Amino acid sequence: MRATIGVTGGKGGTGKSMVAVNVATLISREADLVLADLDAEGANDHILLGASLENEEPVKIMLPFIRYKDCIKCSACANVCDTGAIMMTREKLPMILPRLCDGCRSCLFVCPTNAILEGQRIVGYTYQTRVPARDGGGEGEGGGGGGGGFTLVTGVLREGEEHTPPVVIAAKRRAANLANDLLMVDTGAGTANHVAIALSGSRLAMAVTEPTPLGLHDLELILRVLEELGVEAWVIVNRWGIGSSDAMVGRIEEVARSHRATVKARIPYSRDVVDAYVKGVPIVSAMPDHEVTGIFSSLARELLEVVRGRPEAM
Ligand code: SF4
Ligand code: SF4
Repeated sequence: MRATIGVTGGKGGTGKSMVAVNVATLISREADLVLADLDAEGANDHILLGASLENEEPVKIMLPFIRYKDCIKCSACANVCDTGAIMMTREKLPMILPRLCDGCRSCLFVCPTNAILEGQRIVGYTYQTRVPARDGGGEGEGGGGGGGGFTLVTGVLREGEEHTPPVVIAAKRRAANLANDLLMVDTGAGTANHVAIALSGSRLAMAVTEPTPLGLHDLELILRVLEELGVEAWVIVNRWGIGSSDAMVGRIEEVARSHRATVKARIPYSRDVVDAYVKGVPIVSAMPDHEVTGIFSSLARELLEVVRGRPEAM
């Protein structure tokens, strides 16, 4: 049985990826873990881990093309296309605009003469990268690892593309196929569809926020999504101490409570965290005795207790 843990957060760099790589590093010393970076529009877990992406695989979606000799210029395909990916020319011939096409196949179904055929186009890539143990534990074996070190699966949207969900789905699937014990998904920021796709099936999710009015606003939206998905939410407040007043403390607790979430950790702002970030080394590896490492260790321990106690299949 494999359990899935989500790491999600608001827009504007709340520290979601920093939480994901640090907790993943700690958990991988105890369990077989695969980390999936599903922030396809801004994947950066590999940078925070000082790793280079490896084992590229393209993510393709269906792209229709027209066999003009069979086209009777009826416009049915353009009329059914919701995304505006089919334009009728002055000569009343359909023209496909590939970047707007999401591969739904509706045009194929409505064409009365079967003049539309199936092709493919690449919308992004997935990668599978081994992240070695930096300290303790030693290198694990197999897809998921264990005993230190883990596999990182990354989804990256192709430059100029807008269709993020197929890339997130492909990366999640690739990661799930490798994860025997624990899959951790680091989602995109905010509450777009692809974030819900990334989080679906999670046993629980850490919602990372910061103690600012914008952080609070985004937290509320994320907690709503988690509630709708039926995913237990743990709130992690990052950069605690920056602009955090007693009133803000109260508001975060209140918002969490109103969505049946628990504030599990407050990570203080620390220059050491930023320095480790810049060097591409998680703080838990760079400074094992640091206060922030202690907070991540408690969090990792608690997460393991929960998923080991009540694992769920994806
Ligand atoms: S596959 Fe769907 S989105 Fe693409 S051109 Fe056809 S109808 Fe439009
Ligand atoms: S639906 Fe088929 S026949 Fe009609 S315009 Fe489109 S390609 Fe041509």
